[in-house]
Amino acid sequence: MGRDSAAHNNASFGGLQRVRVMIRPLMSTPTITLGIETSCDETGVALFSSEKGLIGHALHSQVDLHAVYGGVVPEIASRDHVRMLLPLIQQLMETAGIDKPDAIAYTAGPGLVGALMVGGGMANGLGLAWNCPVVAVHHMEGHLLAPMLEENPPDYPFLALLVSGGHTMLIAVRRLGDYELLGTTLDDAAGEAFDKTAKLLGLGYPGGPLLAALAEAGDDTAYPFPRPMLNKPTLDFSFSGLKTAVMLEVRKAEARGDLADCRADIAASFQRAAVDTLVGKAIKAAESQGLNRIVVAGGVGANRLLRSEIAERFSGQVFYPRFEFCTDNGAMIAVAGAMRLSEAGDATEIRALARWSLETLGVPPAS
Ligand code: ADP
Ligand code: MG
Repeated sequence: MGRDSAAHNNASFGGLQRVRVMIRPLMSTPTITLGIETSCDETGVALFSSEKGLIGHALHSQVDLHAVYGGVVPEIASRDHVRMLLPLIQQLMETAGIDKPDAIAYTAGPGLVGALMVGGGMANGLGLAWNCPVVAVHHMEGHLLAPMLEENPPDYPFLALLVSGGHTMLIAVRRLGDYELLGTTLDDAAGEAFDKTAKLLGLGYPGGPLLAALAEAGDDTAYPFPRPMLNKPTLDFSFSGLKTAVMLEVRKAEARGDLADCRADIAASFQRAAVDTLVGKAIKAAESQGLNRIVVAGGVGANRLLRSEIAERFSGQVFYPRFEFCTDNGAMIAVAGAMRLSEAGDATEIRALARWSLETLGVPPAS
């Protein structure tokens, strides 16, 4: 949904990345996997080499197309994926000097079914044309494996805090495919809470990065907003009370006629409350599972306060994807697909699942 800095607009191309190859190739020979992400409003493609790591990636954001509606319009999303996907793949392959990958990975869900069908259809069509295996990837597994693209990837096991526009999850990751959901949101996702609060403050869409920028000029102690469920034993989250508290302050300021003077303080106080909640629960989850590594991923993982707070307060190690791979992208799908190659099939079935539990994935047969 939302994008930070470099990944924000149109097509951006990444060149050769020098990363330590940290995955155990599941195929005996070196492989290049083409990753395709079309689950929502980003068309993302990437090439991941089992020898060299990421060898190229490209992203086309639809943010501008949806901004006028204040949210993602599924039909517009699907049509734009149709328009952009093949040219992006062609340009990516040309830039990387690759004629044909050894495998194709695509996001099969969860997401918008029409948008998923575009990526799935393309992946399976290319798989038939190139006679190569095709692997269906879970979008959230892509997010939680995104730090594997970086120079110092985490070892298993770790605690994953997945915070995006559609999800808020605490997951115990014991190894590839072995995931236990420890906590989730009972109402809004973390990114949704940022986006809705930003909207209340009159900021554009998607609001997360805009709210974070506004918060920099504000006093985060100005409003004592609630830290929802932070002191309860559960690892679940709830953001609706926080959103309502912000709404009441915005209304009061509007009635007084001084909202313009209060916006930055409200943004900073909201961000502080949301981050305190996420960090507090993540550390509690890691400690309860005896895990000394935390991975922060998903769009809200780009939030600088969240990154600095968790690093400061957690006694173990913290891992993140680079900023541009926090939000949706093809690179995380390529690396997750490369790690799951043993599950690839012939291009015969397009999988597109609007809802798909991460816990049902299971460990790949060859690992
Ligand atoms: P989804 O996969 O559910 O579409 P993404 O992983 O693409 O979500 O993340 C998008 C979400 O991340 C949006 O809700 C956006 O507002 C939020 N986001 C992006 N950057 C930041 C930031 N710096 N601070 C807070 N939220 C952010
Ligand atoms: Mg996402």
